[in-house]
Amino acid sequence: MTHVKYWMALCLLPLFFSYYVTSVNAASPPPQVSLIIDDFGGKVKGVEEMLDLDLPLTIAIMPFMEDSHKQAVLAAEKGHEVMLHLPMEPLKGKASWLGPGAIRAEMTKEEAKQATQKAIDSLPHVKGLNNHMGSKVVETSEAISGVLEAAKENQLYVIDSGTNPRSLIPELCESMGIPYEVRDVFLDDTLSSAAEVRQQMKHMAQRTESDAKTIAIGHVGIKGEETVTGIKEGLSFLKSTGTEIVPASRLTLSNLSRNPFSFWEY
Ligand SMILES: [Zn+2]
Repeated sequence: MTHVKYWMALCLLPLFFSYYVTSVNAASPPPQVSLIIDDFGGKVKGVEEMLDLDLPLTIAIMPFMEDSHKQAVLAAEKGHEVMLHLPMEPLKGKASWLGPGAIRAEMTKEEAKQATQKAIDSLPHVKGLNNHMGSKVVETSEAISGVLEAAKENQLYVIDSGTNPRSLIPELCESMGIPYEVRDVFLDDTLSSAAEVRQQMKHMAQRTESDAKTIAIGHVGIKGEETVTGIKEGLSFLKSTGTEIVPASRLTLSNLSRNPFSFWEY
């Protein structure tokens, strides 16, 4: 009798394994989002609260500001990924919003490349870069090519913040072989309440049903504390759709073309 059981178990074993392998293969990977938080570097609202969130955030830091270096070290210590948030000239907007070390549209390719290299060298732990403002620079071939050449030489990925639908970043990254992605969702703007940020988290969770990779951008600054609260409150939406939060580098591993849509122009 024991032998019979033994042989039955042995015969069933392959069946069990084939079932197990099929079900593992059939399960699709969970949707993934990256939460990039821009405008770090200064003494602005929400910095500490954001860094204290127990989530793998991607912290985008402006160079040459009073706390840029310190915040990069702290962000890495707390397990976040660090990006350079490189200021670039916009079509409209105040020059004072740009901050130090900005890339200007009139720069030659070499000047833009050197300025970008200086900014990269000023921060530790940098894995990628995205643009702060920049609607003018991203459509100016010379200047943006210089920025991207520096990114490539330093093996950084690039996130197009999506400030101009005519941005040259996607096509240049494709041709230069630079890992890149384009921002899909803004979590906030300068007037957002926590409830509105929470709503954007819901929107982001819903869009993972049709797009398994989502890049969202939020900000520290005037409304930074509201953004922190909104992210915390909106985590349940990500949980309910089984969405995983990953550093931006994880979503830029392949260079698949995307159709940028719903840009904010400024
Ligand atoms: Zn910014």
